[in-house]
Amino acid sequence: MSESSTCYDLHSHSTCSDGALAPNQLVWRARAHGVDVLALTDHDTTEGLAEAGEAARAAGLTLIPGVEISVTWSGRVVHILGLGVDTGCPALRAGLDGLRRKRDERAHRISEKLDRAGIPGSLEGARAHAGGDALGRTHFARFLVDQGHARDLRRAFKRYLGRGGRCYVACEWADLEEAIAWITGAGGDAVVAHPARYQMGATVMRRFLGQFKSAGGVGMEVISSSHPPPQASAMAAYAREFGFYASAGSDFHAPGGWAELGVLAALPEDCEPIWSRRGWPRGARGVTPRVREGLPAAPGASG
Ligand code: AMP
Ligand code: MN
Ligand code: MN
Ligand code: MN
Repeated sequence: MSESSTCYDLHSHSTCSDGALAPNQLVWRARAHGVDVLALTDHDTTEGLAEAGEAARAAGLTLIPGVEISVTWSGRVVHILGLGVDTGCPALRAGLDGLRRKRDERAHRISEKLDRAGIPGSLEGARAHAGGDALGRTHFARFLVDQGHARDLRRAFKRYLGRGGRCYVACEWADLEEAIAWITGAGGDAVVAHPARYQMGATVMRRFLGQFKSAGGVGMEVISSSHPPPQASAMAAYAREFGFYASAGSDFHAPGGWAELGVLAALPEDCEPIWSRRGWPRGARGVTPRVREGLPAAPGASG
């Protein structure tokens, strides 16, 4: 198989944060969808990577250890991906531990607001939807849908959990500089997740990308399920302007959701892919070369 036909999906979630599939199910689904190189990038946790790495060895695909870090920059929430991180790095671990404590505190406050809105039991309800300790708004959204308070996740965010929703709770996440330091200190590449989603005008975007670069950031997602084609082109232009490597990720959360594993447009030709910087898949840490002939069957029926 030639390098150009290798399928990269460098942004995905498991039950360790707000995804619907366990890490091993995620890996097998990625395999079934033709992904060769997958990054698991759960919100503020690396808990799923050991299980995903084992499944990747069995499935014959390359797993890039990743994380998606919640950052507050200039009063906005932005997400920074760490790709190729060493999960044993103490500073990264301590940083993510701190963010998960903030998630927990925020969850209590969201639950109190839902109580006052006449919806009791949401903390326990959200926890029942969470497979790990990175409790997030998606878990509350699933509870609200289950209980009939919203028709779907999007409406649960609009009505209750999103900015402007009646039970929205603001949170001060990591600093941009400290999040990048955790990533680079752990040997990883810092990459801006879904930059077009922040709806920054050109002036703010350039200020953000300049600061990101000064702090050691090296890449941005050009291809994302959050980017329609015109936005992908606009992000490619920023990547060229700032000398960033381009990344591609589905941001898969759940089957039937807004994105599917491996379903991604090709990077624009004039972009320098992040995987060329790292020599992935060959240079991926701790993962055996992928199986080239025939696909091994997934264990069990689910996936
Ligand atoms: P949190 O990090 O806990 O604040 O939650 C952010 C996550 O919520 C994102 O990563 C998405 O998975 C999800 N999310 C945000 N907005 C929406 C929306 N409008 N509809 C569905 N999911 C959303
Ligand atoms: Mn999410
Ligand atoms: Mn995100
Ligand atoms: Mn994500």
